[in-house]
Amino acid sequence: MKKNIVRACSAETGQGISNFYIDRKPPGVLFVVLLLVYILAAVFVNITAQLESNLVFFGQAVQLSFLTGAISSVANLCAIFLVIFYSKHGFIASIIILLAQFPNLIIEFIFKHNYFGITGFFVNILTVLAVCIIYINKKKVERYQITIQEYAVTDRLTKLPNRIACSMHMDELIKCNKPFVVAIMNLNNFKSINNALGQSIGDAILSEIAIRLKETTIRDTSGTSVFLAYNGGDEFTLVINNYRDSDELVKVLEYYKATLNDTITFKECEYFISARIGYAEYPRDAKSSEDLYICALTAVTNAKKDRGKSHICGFMSNMYSAEREIDMERKIREALKEGRVYFYLQPQYNIMHRLRGFEVLARICDKDGNIISPVEFIPIAEKAGLIDSIDYTVFRNASKFLGELIRHTGTDIILSVNVSVMHLMKKNFLSEVQEILEKSDVPANRIEIEITESIMIDSIDEAVRSISELKKMGFRIAIDDFGTGYSSLSYLNTFPADILKVDKSFIKKISSGSSHEKYVAAIISIGHIMNFGVVAEGVETSEQLEILRNVGCDYIQGFYWGEPMPREEAEKLVIENERKP
Ligand code: C2E
Ligand code: MG
Ligand code: MG
Repeated sequence: MKKNIVRACSAETGQGISNFYIDRKPPGVLFVVLLLVYILAAVFVNITAQLESNLVFFGQAVQLSFLTGAISSVANLCAIFLVIFYSKHGFIASIIILLAQFPNLIIEFIFKHNYFGITGFFVNILTVLAVCIIYINKKKVERYQITIQEYAVTDRLTKLPNRIACSMHMDELIKCNKPFVVAIMNLNNFKSINNALGQSIGDAILSEIAIRLKETTIRDTSGTSVFLAYNGGDEFTLVINNYRDSDELVKVLEYYKATLNDTITFKECEYFISARIGYAEYPRDAKSSEDLYICALTAVTNAKKDRGKSHICGFMSNMYSAEREIDMERKIREALKEGRVYFYLQPQYNIMHRLRGFEVLARICDKDGNIISPVEFIPIAEKAGLIDSIDYTVFRNASKFLGELIRHTGTDIILSVNVSVMHLMKKNFLSEVQEILEKSDVPANRIEIEITESIMIDSIDEAVRSISELKKMGFRIAIDDFGTGYSSLSYLNTFPADILKVDKSFIKKISSGSSHEKYVAAIISIGHIMNFGVVAEGVETSEQLEILRNVGCDYIQGFYWGEPMPREEAEKLVIENERKP
């Protein structure tokens, strides 16, 4: 475990935090240009000051040495700009060039008694002074700037980065598209300690916790990266990246939580403090730092409600806070109204890698063009009574797509469409579906309706009635996510289904032990005994595919052979497949 913990960007060192603010320097090419102009002007001044020749200017003869003043002003301006724009490097460059001119002038004065450069000499001294003053002042301003910046992103009490710094750190990781976790550690009953014992004791406890957490991050400098922050009140945040998997993540969180195992002693009194942690993962749970924070907050609130049980709790889509739910519901309504509900298609293949068809997977797009996953919006659409509108839109558009595809390519593929129980139970569901078929000119047997096993259990009789009607109309029926509900054999018997889809959670474990393999093999055998075809969902590796092939699985769906794709790509895939011998 020790090796996994790591480096926090400490507010004490300012490392990684003030960097967010430091002004961007102008491009290096400007430095070179200023330097060249400066050198050329200095050389010009030194040469022309000694020349007697004239220059004809608007018909008038002007002594060349008269230009010296103007050119030396340009040189001095360059020196000043170098310091302003390039601070230390600019200062060093200007001082070197300025000082380099002195030996020549001094030799002229002392040994040749030539005083042509006396004005230049004093101008140079003044410029050196000006450059030094500007540089010293700039350094002072930079120091103040860093102090102000550190104040803005650092909590004064705990000396840890604050919430602003934490959001900036998350934004940086999001920019690099790095997966990470934001975990909120909330202290139990801290408010009562503060109220009963006074704020000074509360502050001392918070400082001690901050020190312990910082020490934990310093203990190792390899592996997992942890950015520590204090949100105020009784809340600390950990932003963790570079972890291998969820097991390692939970270990890291437990390790941090364990820093509170020892009692905190203050003025000879001992205090026992405990905490709960809620976390959310980017990009799985949310795509922006603000939303991730809300998700982690929701998870920690959930962990708090769950007294005595989970001390560390990951965010799950069914935990949406009221605020987030309202926001998501608004996004769904807008998407439905403005035609931003569409679908992706994930290929399904037979075991010989021949295209069977596609599963239609709903997507919605928000106003800024971000794609929202069904895992996020479906639970809320179900709650808000909007799922039937989504299902209807997806069903209609997908059937239209299939109709066009059949006419263009003559393909015989199948489209699997997910239907929620709410949509299935709608009074006019069957007539709606009939109308869609007629309009899209697709034979019913080319559409498979996927019904999730767990939802069917709630209303089995009504569901069976509707499904039997669908069967009569010629649709195929698939039982989705099989194994996640009651997996009751008796209802399987009553169900007029054609396909059993083994949930991806079983496929994920299939290569990690023979018991999991046997379990999947048993499901496949039951499916075959009942005359169902069996689809394995979530096949991600060749190893899983090989096992599924050996246990007689009929169809494969998963990232290994094809991720969900937009309709244009699906169309290409169909055309390629039609060309195959
Ligand atoms: P589902 O019906 O079980 O769909 C399969 C889900 O597994 C899809 O997620 C798919 O992208 C994902 N998946 C496929 N292969 C792999 C894999 O190899 N690895 C992993 N980790 N995941 C894989 P998606 O698109 O996020 O859909 C999630 C769920 O949302 C669906 O699960 C389905 O229950 C529901 N859903 C999607 N579209 C609709 C719809 O139009 N109507 C209704 N009512 N529900 C829908
Ligand atoms: Mg499905
Ligand atoms: Mg499924």
